[in-house]
Amino acid sequence: MTEDATERQARHSARMAKKKAVVDAAIAAATDARGLLLVVTGNGKGKSTAAFGMVARALGHRLKVGVVQFIKSRTDTGEEAFLGPHTEWHVTGDGFTWDTQNREQDIATAQRGWAIAARMLADPAYQLVVLDELTYLLSYGYLDADTVLDALVQRPAMQHVVVTGRAASDALIALADTVSVIADEKHAFRAGVQAQPGIDL
Ligand code: ATP
Ligand code: MG
Repeated sequence: MTEDATERQARHSARMAKKKAVVDAAIAAATDARGLLLVVTGNGKGKSTAAFGMVARALGHRLKVGVVQFIKSRTDTGEEAFLGPHTEWHVTGDGFTWDTQNREQDIATAQRGWAIAARMLADPAYQLVVLDELTYLLSYGYLDADTVLDALVQRPAMQHVVVTGRAASDALIALADTVSVIADEKHAFRAGVQAQPGIDL
């Protein structure tokens, strides 16, 4: 190595050693193990798929997983075909509210889905529960926000929950342990590309 390169290498090593010390200390300080509430929100694509990625991880560790898909009515998604048989998977929606155009029916459907979710949130046998698109039921007022928040607070101590959907409420975000907001920089749909199997469903 030239003298320049040797010096650069030494500076790099010193910087990395310092960084490693900081990261190691942070890892050593993180000693809690408990059930987490994760919220994946924002207008960008990737909320539900993030949740299903965690389902795959959890199944790799042999955890018992429950999934409730609110809003969505289609049962032909790749995620359900692949992960469904290894989980307890419920699709409880009738589609978006502009599809049904019937508030009473939407509320009844929401309540039906919530009954399944509430049962899972009360049962420590479920180690990961995914409540996909739950945020919409709260923002449309189809479910009582306090009822939902109470069930999340009172769930079993070791149970993980992932909530997805746009516009998560401040109360839900405050309650969550990990919150990711996915931004919408670009989406192929706006360039006229229809939903693609494997990517969008
Ligand atoms: P995904 O299921 O792909 O992770 P998501 O859960 O973040 O997406 P949803 O609002 O639930 O987003 O919408 C699901 C469907 O709508 C998917 O087909 C997705 O590709 C599409 N979609 C998501 N975000 C956008 C967007 N910003 N513009 C257009 N279509 C979108
Ligand atoms: Mg989604």
